[in-house]
Amino acid sequence: MVEEVSNQSTGYCPDVSSWPAVAEALDRTGIHRPPGFTQEVVFRRCHSCRELNIVREKDFVCVFCGEDLPPEWNVGEPL
Ligand SMILES: [Zn+2]
Repeated sequence: MVEEVSNQSTGYCPDVSSWPAVAEALDRTGIHRPPGFTQEVVFRRCHSCRELNIVREKDFVCVFCGEDLPPEWNVGEPL
């Protein structure tokens, strides 16, 4: 049984919209799962300094350089 599922990882950082894929994978294995990510982490890569940010409280501002972060998930973009 899976108690917690988070999309937070240090390598691949999926957007929260990746939940359906996670849920489907868990369902296929027959594992009981929560109805959604228990911890939603919003990742954005800063266009200015290219640092990976974790957006908190819908505050789309780079913590490293203060630039605005894009509203759309962009972590998968090439550097
Ligand atoms: Zn930045």
